[in-house]
Amino acid sequence: MSDSPRYRFAPSPTGFFHVGGARTALYNWALTLREGGTFVLRIEDTDESRNSPEWTQGIIDALSWLGIDSQHPQFEGPYFQSANAELHVAAAMRLFQQGNAYWCDMTPEQVQERSKELGKQGYHGYSRDRGLTGGPGQVLRFRVPEGKTIVSDLVRGDVEFANDTIEDFVLLRSNGSPMFLLANVVDDIEMRITNVVRAEEHLPNTPKQQMLWDALGVKPPVWAHVPVLVNEQRKKLSKRRDKVALEQYREEGILPDAMVNYLMTLGWAPSGDTEIVPWQSIVEEFRLENVNHSPAFFDIKKLNAFNGDYIRALSLEAFIEESQPFLANGTWPAERFNAEVFEKVAPLIHTRVATLSEVPSMVDFFFLADPEIDNDAWTKTMGSDFAKDAIADFALAIGAVEWNHDALKGVLETWTESRGLKLGKTQAPIRVAITGRTVGPPLFESIEILGRDETARRLANALSRLG
Ligand code: GLU
Repeated sequence: MSDSPRYRFAPSPTGFFHVGGARTALYNWALTLREGGTFVLRIEDTDESRNSPEWTQGIIDALSWLGIDSQHPQFEGPYFQSANAELHVAAAMRLFQQGNAYWCDMTPEQVQERSKELGKQGYHGYSRDRGLTGGPGQVLRFRVPEGKTIVSDLVRGDVEFANDTIEDFVLLRSNGSPMFLLANVVDDIEMRITNVVRAEEHLPNTPKQQMLWDALGVKPPVWAHVPVLVNEQRKKLSKRRDKVALEQYREEGILPDAMVNYLMTLGWAPSGDTEIVPWQSIVEEFRLENVNHSPAFFDIKKLNAFNGDYIRALSLEAFIEESQPFLANGTWPAERFNAEVFEKVAPLIHTRVATLSEVPSMVDFFFLADPEIDNDAWTKTMGSDFAKDAIADFALAIGAVEWNHDALKGVLETWTESRGLKLGKTQAPIRVAITGRTVGPPLFESIEILGRDETARRLANALSRLG
């Protein structure tokens, strides 16, 4: 196994799991599985304010929800960046001893002053030859060599950077703490990482990091920078503007398989004529070389459509099972819930919801004593000249009809035809009277389940409201 690839996922804890991070993790995981490699989880927790144990657990839980199981034999970690601080400093010292780094005590004001004299912004190696030996107030800077750096990226091809556009970047802060760029490379080297697949926003860091790999005498990894996720306005997804937390989608009843499939298609497409494909074929087919480099639109409508497909593909039993946690959010009094009724209704709504969080509002009228009638729905449907008659005549007729949905539908159909109307129109006021809404599960099947007495009671209530 010694030369099998080692991928890694290196999130900085933020208290929630970004969907972009989820996509990156899945790309790494798919490749790990197909290539028989290892997936290393490293928590980049050097920012003190960001290393709470709950956040780490949140990352592990989110990965596990995505099917990236920390107990899987190809999963390694979690490792913690903060545990390696000594290694980071040691690597920095080595770079200093090798002449690849030097100390600098200039304040930002002094740097600005020099830049003004020089007529160009930035840090231009001002302390390179001052021979400082370190101490309070000094930062350690990397001595960027002359020439150019070519980053070979599996998604982007060869990306060339002229080294004179890269300033001598800081490795250790003046308080001695390592900068992210250094810590990230030292950890990757320590963890024998061979493949770095990460977000596009890190591409500008990559030439600097590749220089560090070279200077530390280790062959740089295979790089791949995957496209940024954008919203409908083509703006980068941001937690202030957009719904970016994976946890939120989970709470809203997106199925993990649907989420995984959808995330994989952000920048990549399976070969067949549908994007909805099982994980196994994703693992077989996914290649970084086929990942697109333009920004990928995170389209919630499309995600919901994927999810609707995945819900419909569930067996009825699985649908009932998956719905359970969401039923707890129903607005009915807990004691009025009836699992048998829900099981009867489940087939009616199974094909009609895009997310599981829609389930409670589809079935609440079965469990509420008096479902609240939506005002708009009432005005829209009760204003017609036939609404009151339709309800009254239907109420009368169903007193004696055989109790099944075909017969119930027959009753209203006959009435509707005799008035030269359309069933779509005449069933609307009846639906509102019974369910409180204009949309919901099939009406006559619902009435059959609701029962004769309760249906009669609701119709009578509507009639008295109509006066
Ligand atoms: N901790 C970095 C981040 O969350 C990851 C850097 C990397 O993948 O190299 O963006």
